Amino acid sequence: MLIFETRENSRGPALDKATYDAVVVGAGLAGLMSAYYIAKEGFKVAVISKVFPTRSHSAAAEGGIAAYIEGNSDPNDSPDYMAYDTIKGGDYLVDQDAAELLAYKSGEIVDLLERWGALFNRQPDGRIAVRYFGGQTYPRTRFVGDKTGMALLHTVYERASGTDNVDFYYEWFTWDLVVDSDRRVRGVVAFDMRNMTPTFFEARAVVMASGGMGMLYKHSTNSYINTGDGYAMALRAGAALKDPEFVQFHPTALYPSDILISEAARGEGAVLRNNKGERFMARYAPKKLDLAPRDIVSRSIMIEIKEGRGFPGGYVGLDLTHLGEEYIKERLALAYEAALNFAGVDAMKEMIPVRPAQHYFMGGIDVDIKGRNPDLIGLFAAGEAACVSVHGANRLGSNSLLETLVFGRETGIAVAEYLKTASWPSSDVAKDVERSVDQAYSVVKSESGRHFGEILEELRSTMWDYVGIFRNDGGLRNALSKIDQLRGEINKMYVTDKSKVYNTEFFNALELKNMLDLALVIAHAALNRTESRGAHYREDYPQRNDQEWMKHTLTYLRGKTVEISYKPVKVTRWKPEERVY
Ligand SMILES: Cc1cc2nc3c(=O)[nH]c(=O)nc-3n(C[C@H](O)[C@H](O)[C@H](O)COP(=O)(O)OP(=O)(O)OC[C@H]3O[C@@H](n4cnc5c(N)ncnc54)[C@H](O)[C@@H]3O)c2cc1C
Repeated sequence: MLIFETRENSRGPALDKATYDAVVVGAGLAGLMSAYYIAKEGFKVAVISKVFPTRSHSAAAEGGIAAYIEGNSDPNDSPDYMAYDTIKGGDYLVDQDAAELLAYKSGEIVDLLERWGALFNRQPDGRIAVRYFGGQTYPRTRFVGDKTGMALLHTVYERASGTDNVDFYYEWFTWDLVVDSDRRVRGVVAFDMRNMTPTFFEARAVVMASGGMGMLYKHSTNSYINTGDGYAMALRAGAALKDPEFVQFHPTALYPSDILISEAARGEGAVLRNNKGERFMARYAPKKLDLAPRDIVSRSIMIEIKEGRGFPGGYVGLDLTHLGEEYIKERLALAYEAALNFAGVDAMKEMIPVRPAQHYFMGGIDVDIKGRNPDLIGLFAAGEAACVSVHGANRLGSNSLLETLVFGRETGIAVAEYLKTASWPSSDVAKDVERSVDQAYSVVKSESGRHFGEILEELRSTMWDYVGIFRNDGGLRNALSKIDQLRGEINKMYVTDKSKVYNTEFFNALELKNMLDLALVIAHAALNRTESRGAHYREDYPQRNDQEWMKHTLTYLRGKTVEISYKPVKVTRWKPEERVY
């Protein structure tokens, strides 16, 4: 007997409904920051998260947050230099007004977080400590030991949960955005993960702050909750994803488990070596060496491995041995422990085995610098779920935590402004809500076909093999036909768990549906962009082509097809130039 029946059969006609001014999907740094600034203006906010807020993926960030701080930075540095590094690092696909905002607000946001209670590491003279991250002309990365994300997340959670206007729904899975015939956002459909009960969260504004999508790739530094749900919800509802062909691969994931070895290690002086002991980055980035941006270092590692200078199994070495025991223990304890516990390597004596793995998504829901999506009235996005176009074709390390806070706040303020005048629409969306719930159940109604786990593994391998660090026309076409096939198969897939109590398989199957929608869009956009820029490297078009491709990709999902259009990059002060390091 099937337990996944239609909503009418399983629960009766009445659906639970909760009404808020705004719903924030995601309780990471971006979601909490937005929620706080909406609630501060007196609006009622629901924050919905698959996990307890402080278990959101932001907690995993070790390395730090970039900031230019007046009087506490290199005397030659400036916010303009920081914006320039961000733009050059992003291979000139960055909207320059966004980069300027990020840089000019960076010092202020670190100061705010300190006042809220996050204590950053200090230099002996009491000023906030700083280290280099890749692509920085001057060192700008600030840190709280090697648990920066954790410290910031706890601090912002304390703030957001301290206001009366925020209700938290954790271990709730948001499945769909509800949009009416006027393209106005009306709320979300979400399931209580403890018992699969659906509820319609009615709201005048929705902020998508649902984080990244690393689970699309066979090798990723991300946690299992990063399945790209927010991107897929926005696509299905008719909003564009911007620049989805730009996926970041981090150079140093631990071999073989793919746990991140933070860029902080290279920032503190660790170097990459091949099987001959050579510091091979001298060949690829003679000036910045190991601290070139991530796209360049990842490709260099892969070339070393392909040309036979890697170690058996496919990895290179990250050498910390010259840094000394005390320094490693003080600054890089997590990297040391990860290498010891998950690769059996004592980093004080031997090199850590590393290879690239998927790490970050530069693409995201199309929004402006206030987090507003132009396609749907009342839809906002922030953090990794959004594409403000501040990272362009390649994000610089430690700019993401900064983005979540700067643009999370901008978005929260913009939502509150919007709510001051937005009325409650009167048209009835009950039928749309019911259809959405039934569609969720239908994803798992089959008792035969393929198990969802098999489809997932095939998808992850396809993305890694053909939509990874090196891409070409043939490979991308292979990927598209495989993704099409898998999208067909999910209509007949099954899950083994039939209970209604903590049925994680049910939610994994919904996540798979989301991942397939997103994969289709990424592969299409990658096939269309016939140039190489930042993290998008086409073997058949190895040069950057500003003449034709200095533009953002906009992708829309229309059933089985993807519609693509383009819009210009915003250039304020910095003309594109050759990107050498
Ligand atoms: C290992 C690692 C280390 C990193 N280190 C750094 C660093 O040192 N510096 C830096 O700047 N950046 C770093 N990054 C990147 C950075 O941490 C992330 O980009 C950033 O924290 C994302 O924050 P967010 O608020 O957008 O999303 P997240 O913190 O990922 O939160 C997403 C939220 O959405 C919720 N959610 C998702 N889908 C649903 C759904 N369907 N229903 C309900 N809720 C949902 C989740 O439960 C979660 O609460 C690192 C990334 C990784 C993977």
